[in-house]
Amino acid sequence: MRSLTMYALLFFATASLSGCYWENFSKTERVEPLVLTAPDSIESLIEHVREATQQGLRIRMTGSGHSHSDVAVTEDVLLRPIQLIDVLALDRERLLDPNASHLVRVESGITIRALNTYLDDQGLALKNMGGYDGQTIIGAAMTGTHGSGLDYGPIASQIASLQVVVDAGQVLQIEPSQGITNAATFPGTLEENPGIPVTLIQNDTLFNAIKVSIGSMGIVYSVVLETDSRFWLEEKRTLTTWDKIKTPGGFLHRLINGVPLDDEGPQPDYYELQYNPYKVGGERSILVTKRYKSYEPLDIDTERGQPGTTFLSGLITVFEKPLIWIVDNLQFIAPILVEQSLKSQSDDSYKNISYKIFNIGVVNYTDAYAMEMAFDVNESIAAIERAFALGEQLQVDGIVHSAPVSIRFVKAADELIAMQQGRDTMIIEFIMINGIKGDRQLFNTYAQTLMEEFYARPHWGLDFKLLQGSDWAATVFPQWHTWLSQYEQLNPNGTFDGRVTDRLGISINPR
Ligand SMILES: Cc1cc2nc3c(=O)[nH]c(=O)nc-3n(C[C@H](O)[C@H](O)[C@H](O)COP(=O)(O)OP(=O)(O)OC[C@H]3O[C@@H](n4cnc5c(N)ncnc54)[C@H](O)[C@@H]3O)c2cc1C
Repeated sequence: MRSLTMYALLFFATASLSGCYWENFSKTERVEPLVLTAPDSIESLIEHVREATQQGLRIRMTGSGHSHSDVAVTEDVLLRPIQLIDVLALDRERLLDPNASHLVRVESGITIRALNTYLDDQGLALKNMGGYDGQTIIGAAMTGTHGSGLDYGPIASQIASLQVVVDAGQVLQIEPSQGITNAATFPGTLEENPGIPVTLIQNDTLFNAIKVSIGSMGIVYSVVLETDSRFWLEEKRTLTTWDKIKTPGGFLHRLINGVPLDDEGPQPDYYELQYNPYKVGGERSILVTKRYKSYEPLDIDTERGQPGTTFLSGLITVFEKPLIWIVDNLQFIAPILVEQSLKSQSDDSYKNISYKIFNIGVVNYTDAYAMEMAFDVNESIAAIERAFALGEQLQVDGIVHSAPVSIRFVKAADELIAMQQGRDTMIIEFIMINGIKGDRQLFNTYAQTLMEEFYARPHWGLDFKLLQGSDWAATVFPQWHTWLSQYEQLNPNGTFDGRVTDRLGISINPR
């Protein structure tokens, strides 16, 4: 039973300092937990988990709260990561290869933004990232957050090792079976405090279960990342049409069939698409983005896209209400607005340091929602054309898009319940400015139809609680039951249950 125990009372002092409720970034989830606090050390983290286990309370940690879904939420003890944001020492004597120069150890609450700055200073970089940097590194990993390019998996694939506080406050260090740590000489204690015992587990199944586990297998304290050397990108954005990219010789046809994307010169390392859900002048426009990697410094450009685009995008974040009025009342304008957005982004060449190119910039601050569905890359053409048809039907029903639709590509992932698990993946992202008429109906129509017709997998952070119960989860995630067995092993008392495990019908102690 959930009750106001001594433990809760003890921590309410802290809770009142930070406000007694927690709300996610998009305000779709709000909770007034019994305890809301921000541990500032591993010792404090262990103490919270131990107490919660003893009191029969649930405990979870949020990242930056950028998931629209309920994945971060519990009503009992909700931890915030804002004091677990440091870069940590990596004890190289523990490694099989003490000279592995690209390994970096950080606390789990560091944001991707802060991490990028640190890595840049060290001459290093993330291998890939999504279009935004406000998430924490582990919050992003936990939901399968991804960038684009079929040579790169989700963020979680850059994690080489992690330390996690599990039931009753035990600390585990989890790695793949061929992990970075020398198991024979592992001292069995924590780097920062030799008084804290740490159990090393090198096991592929557990490792692939926990990296994407929607916060449900323990509270991660630290991660070791396998990074790249610092690199620059040249971005080229070209406006073309759907008919051109899907036919032989076109971008998408080449990608699916493993044909080089460019006829000559270096191939792009990263690439993505955006489309207009509506035909304009009888054609459906596609913006193809290609990004070329360089370990040699490139001259940095100041302006991205057509002149004034960054400024105009910034204006949209301020003038959302008039835009909503226009889209709601003058729906015929929507296709032209979206077309204009695509045109304004086209650019022959924009160069910058990698993480400033991956980050799509000021549009991240628009009050908008996104919803993502993932498909086998070989289904790309059928799935995208089905989405075109759904968009046109919704338009007939009086519900229109307010932004281009984005398409990204991710390498097959080992993480058991990542939406990219087991297959090279194409992901469609639908974006709507918050408050436009019918926005939820639009998301639901796409999500429900594409899940039923293609067994498309929802993004754990960017969905609106599409999966209800375990059956559909098992249908779309082939490794669901393997993941469940690992989850049950690390969560035997339901300590890490939460709203999401209740929704999925897998809570150990359901409410
Ligand atoms: C503006 C914006 C841009 C985005 N861009 C992209 C994109 O380009 N690509 C993409 O794939 N997604 C994108 N997303 C989605 C976003 O990356 C995910 O929802 C991500 O999970 C959010 O990370 P967070 O740090 O905010 O974590 P939260 O949303 O707060 O939490 C996510 C999960 O992590 C768990 N968690 C956090 N910390 C810990 C811990 N220490 N131990 C255990 N579990 C923990 C939580 O319990 C929860 O289950 C975007 C979202 C927004 C709002």
